[in-house]
Amino acid sequence: MQLLIDNIGELVTNVAGSGEGGPLGIRRRAALLIEEGRVAWIGPARYAPAADRRIDVDGAAVLPGFVDSHAHLVFAGDRAAEFAARMAGQRYTGGGIRTTVAATRAADDETLRGTVARLRAEAMRQGTTTIEIKSGYGLSVADEARSLRIAAEFTTETTFLGAHVVPPEYADRPDDYVGLVCGPMLRAALPYARWIDVFCERGAFDADHARAILTVGQAAGLGVRVHANQLGPGPGVQLGVELGAASVDHCTHLDDLDVEALAMSETVATLLPGAEFSTRSPYPDARRLLDAGVTVALATDCNPGSSYTSSMPFCIALAVRELGMTPAEAVWAATAGGARALRRDDLGVLRPGAPADLSILAAPSHLHLAYRPGVPLISQVLHNGVPQCQP
Ligand SMILES: [Zn+2]
Repeated sequence: MQLLIDNIGELVTNVAGSGEGGPLGIRRRAALLIEEGRVAWIGPARYAPAADRRIDVDGAAVLPGFVDSHAHLVFAGDRAAEFAARMAGQRYTGGGIRTTVAATRAADDETLRGTVARLRAEAMRQGTTTIEIKSGYGLSVADEARSLRIAAEFTTETTFLGAHVVPPEYADRPDDYVGLVCGPMLRAALPYARWIDVFCERGAFDADHARAILTVGQAAGLGVRVHANQLGPGPGVQLGVELGAASVDHCTHLDDLDVEALAMSETVATLLPGAEFSTRSPYPDARRLLDAGVTVALATDCNPGSSYTSSMPFCIALAVRELGMTPAEAVWAATAGGARALRRDDLGVLRPGAPADLSILAAPSHLHLAYRPGVPLISQVLHNGVPQCQP
């Protein structure tokens, strides 16, 4: 079965140097042929081959599917009241995570699975073809294992976040909780997890605890990612770089040494501006990172407490307006950048052989994603070459 996407006005390939050059590798008046779920051919529309099926996009822009490399979708309940309180002046401390832990533990599997399915579909409608999903609202051996088992039904990019916060029953003995995470909980998580992550922050896990957990996870074969430097300066970024993390996420409060360490490393800085938006906090400075040569990704941090959005276009618009990124940098960060943060060089790019994961915009250019914020510009999404249901 072949499918031809024809009359593309602007095709973002993310193949650096191809087409118009630059990191987005833009080609004009292009066509793209899909075979067996993969990109088979890209070229000028006037040379487009015949195909079993054809979609004429009439000059619209086409870009790689978004790769959302940071999301917490396995939870129950919502925290709208906490959001309202914050907007009325209360400060965000991360303490509300425990509210979601209680609701998640009390929920049955079907409820949790239903929430993940709903949010996965919501993200897909907004152009996200790959999403990472973390555990972290179970915080017991059984609840972390089932969170990851459910997450693995929806993505291969699953992350064990048993070290999200110390649960209330371990409040006065955090060392014991770290022991549980490093031992029985990790063993129960391993069959379902590709990554391990720690919330390294004042009030969550300090550098010694984070190092212990990440090191033992790494030794068990998991890739490393870190929630780092979100609420204040701290050791998370340096620790992530030292351990060869694929990504350090948030990066809101960085000093010069943090930026330098990132620039010298393969570790991606994943920025999550939905969190600063939803907690009314100062945004990270993407410009500073990009100017230093750091690879930057954008992701949603979709979770019920600090960033309840599944919308990568919203994050792109915020990144351009508030983080100092150009529209091209933000689109790259939301596609190829996310793929780098997951160490997936097959994703976030449109070239022969790559999975046919792409969005067709109701717009002539990727610029519109930032230029027309809040407007539903994703008119069709293809995942592995298959058109997805649209609203
Ligand atoms: Zn997060």
